[in-house]
Amino acid sequence: RSTTVRNIDDSIDNIEEDDEDDVVDLAANSLLNKLIRQSLVESSHHVEVLQKDPSSPLYSVKTFEELRLKEDLLKGIYAMGFNRPSKIQEMALPMMLAHPPQNLIAQSQSGTGKTAAFVLAMLSRVNALELFPQCLCLAPTYELALQTGRVVEQMGKFCVDVQVMYAIRGNRILRGTDITKQIVIGTPGTVLDWCFKRKLIDLTKIRVFVLDEADVMIDTQGFSDHSIRIQRALPPECQMLLFSATFEDSVWRFAERIIPDPNVIKLRKEELTLNNIWQYYMLCEHRKDKYQALCNIYGSITIGQAIIFCQTRRNAKWLTVEMIQDGHQVSLLSGELTVEQRASIIQRFRDGKEKVLITTNVCARGIDVKQVTIVVNFDLPVKQGEEPDYETYLHRIGRTGRFGKKGLAFNMIEVDKLPLLMKIQDHFNSSIKQLNAEDMDEIE
Ligand code: ADP
Repeated sequence: RSTTVRNIDDSIDNIEEDDEDDVVDLAANSLLNKLIRQSLVESSHHVEVLQKDPSSPLYSVKTFEELRLKEDLLKGIYAMGFNRPSKIQEMALPMMLAHPPQNLIAQSQSGTGKTAAFVLAMLSRVNALELFPQCLCLAPTYELALQTGRVVEQMGKFCVDVQVMYAIRGNRILRGTDITKQIVIGTPGTVLDWCFKRKLIDLTKIRVFVLDEADVMIDTQGFSDHSIRIQRALPPECQMLLFSATFEDSVWRFAERIIPDPNVIKLRKEELTLNNIWQYYMLCEHRKDKYQALCNIYGSITIGQAIIFCQTRRNAKWLTVEMIQDGHQVSLLSGELTVEQRASIIQRFRDGKEKVLITTNVCARGIDVKQVTIVVNFDLPVKQGEEPDYETYLHRIGRTGRFGKKGLAFNMIEVDKLPLLMKIQDHFNSSIKQLNAEDMDEIE
């Protein structure tokens, strides 16, 4: 009878899992990353450059001074704590600041310095004495537009006469008033409205056009078309820049349609590996048993910081309640929270204020928490049809080779899930050792 109960249990879990998968939200993930990111993401890859004119010399800079920026702008950059250009900025900045202006398509994972680069380009091309929009930046959501605006404000802190305006829904402009701010950041729908219907922005006066987060943009219905309509009305001498964290074919096709004669810069994403990870599994009878196994290793996992993954929201919640009742200090990162609430939990975790984070896949996707040395799969990641989800397994546990520390991974496995674990082991050609409660000395 207990099996029947569990089957029902499982099927409820699966339904919830579907629900949760629906809320994977690229824009929210991107915002979350921005809210919690404090420094550059390192990369061991080289920047790949494809010049529109391969015969022209290729410049790169190692310092911000070499860019001959306005004094006030340089001051702003240093005030932000930037000492030298990031990897992508070394190549991108000379192209973006060249005379005559060059168009650019740039792709690199989030956190590599793209936003800072195009904000710098906008600030350096703006004429503070001219009181009309000269730089236009499109972003996929209101919140992402605000984040970029904050960077403009910080970097432009000493460029006192340069101002930002947000073209976002709800930002009302009285009829007959002119926009006197030089930099406009907004979402495609509202920008379109402001340009064509309300004639608040004269697109023929735009010098720099930025399309940020192109991958998120094309994911949103209508945004590609809006962006293209805006781009078509720009003057030929306007500089056009497009940025994306990923580069699927669809992004590339869109980028080529919207950016004429581009230079292309790419920084490949660091590959994840399981090489530096010790992987273990503990064989359990059922959920309570898994919980007991987790409690057995709890002392060891809290030496460092740990993330515990559950397959469903419901399981994550259950586990959190159980652990708190048993006096363990854990926090739950759940899909029901707002992006800001999630950011603040991750921030506390990063600051070491929390040692153990319980979460689900969806919630943790796209977030890298480098100092986590211990990962617990309370549930194995599976796809529908009882196949292991290899990609998610790698994503949860894997580290980037050069920058990753050594790590520990524990899998709590119900007996009937053992074949799945073996498939994972074969797939990655790496060994996952069985651990009995008595063997804990081995890992310490
Ligand atoms: P992306 O747009 O690619 O996600 P950002 O421009 O937002 O990257 O940069 C990621 C983080 O690194 C931000 O906190 C930003 O302030 C910081 N950053 C950007 N460029 C530099 C630099 N040259 N030196 C130090 N920090 C930088």
